[in-house]
Amino acid sequence: MRAAVYQGPGDVKIAEVADPRIEDSRDLIVKTRTASMCGSDLYLYHGEVEQMVAPGRTTLGHEICAEVVETGEDVTRFSPGDRVTFPYSVSCGLCFLCRAGQTAHCETSGKAIYGYGTAFGDLGGSQAEYVRVPLADNHLEHVPDSIDDEAALLLSCNLPAAIIAVEAAEIRPTDTVAVIGCGPTGLLALQLARRRTHAPVLAFDRVAYRLARAEQLGATPVNVDRDPVPEKVAEVTAGRGVDKVVEFAGRGPAFGLAVSIARPGGVISGGGVYLENEYPVSLFDMYFKNLQLRLNGFANAKTAQWQAMRVLEHGVIDPAAVITHRVTLEEFPDAAAAFAARADGFLKLVITP
Ligand SMILES: [Zn+2]
Ligand SMILES: [Zn+2]
Repeated sequence: MRAAVYQGPGDVKIAEVADPRIEDSRDLIVKTRTASMCGSDLYLYHGEVEQMVAPGRTTLGHEICAEVVETGEDVTRFSPGDRVTFPYSVSCGLCFLCRAGQTAHCETSGKAIYGYGTAFGDLGGSQAEYVRVPLADNHLEHVPDSIDDEAALLLSCNLPAAIIAVEAAEIRPTDTVAVIGCGPTGLLALQLARRRTHAPVLAFDRVAYRLARAEQLGATPVNVDRDPVPEKVAEVTAGRGVDKVVEFAGRGPAFGLAVSIARPGGVISGGGVYLENEYPVSLFDMYFKNLQLRLNGFANAKTAQWQAMRVLEHGVIDPAAVITHRVTLEEFPDAAAAFAARADGFLKLVITP
């Protein structure tokens, strides 16, 4: 089959690789209908976590809408032809940590993540024609007919992650909210936050087209490179700082921004991917403001996937606000480069193998 294979920093090629096959009686094989690229894939793509990948072999992608084509003999919930999606990580639902809600830390799968390299189970990714799904009955889900193949892509990672981060922020109807990082997950969280508060929602980013989209969705855009951030925040919050910060950028300066704009007693809900070795954040600054820090970026996506389906069914968020590009698998390497460069208006791209 054809798959997107990581070759080295900034270099993904479509290559012919072995077809996945049933390796365990609880496995099934799906044929990809749509796949995508997540902001978290950029750590792999840029080679920032080179120790986690096998160049020339690691296939990428953890977002999918697919069709079941073959099932292991112990699979009971799925049959060939079923339209399905998986959360980005494999979980059993039965081990101690799954039962504690920490499905990303599943002890049975060993934190296996689709298409995330050797450090996370060495599973094939969704940017491929076929994918092997281990523990299928335990974590795979049928996609309701009311959710199309493109919107279903949001169920694997972005929308559950947005829901988890927004819920952790405990946004009340009068809370001012800051969303930092207006990629797809940030823009989904922004839409969810707007449903929860009547107070202003500020959107922070440095990319103009992302800020324009945030503004279309009802937020007050703040360009961190060009706008006077302290003055903008003071203006909206009577000088106190925002009540709730939802952070998705994952980078040191962004986290520092979150600490600086939160009001005393505020909440920082971190839904980003925090893979840098050091973050220039002062615990003193956090202490002195009595900030509450809630990190859920290693998202237990499985736990919020059911709710994510309901969010899509009821039109709580608009998938079209984040899906911007459609490409074939062959076109994907060029699209990945544009996505990584934040060029050409890229938010969410839909790959059809
Ligand atoms: Zn993801
Ligand atoms: Zn488990």
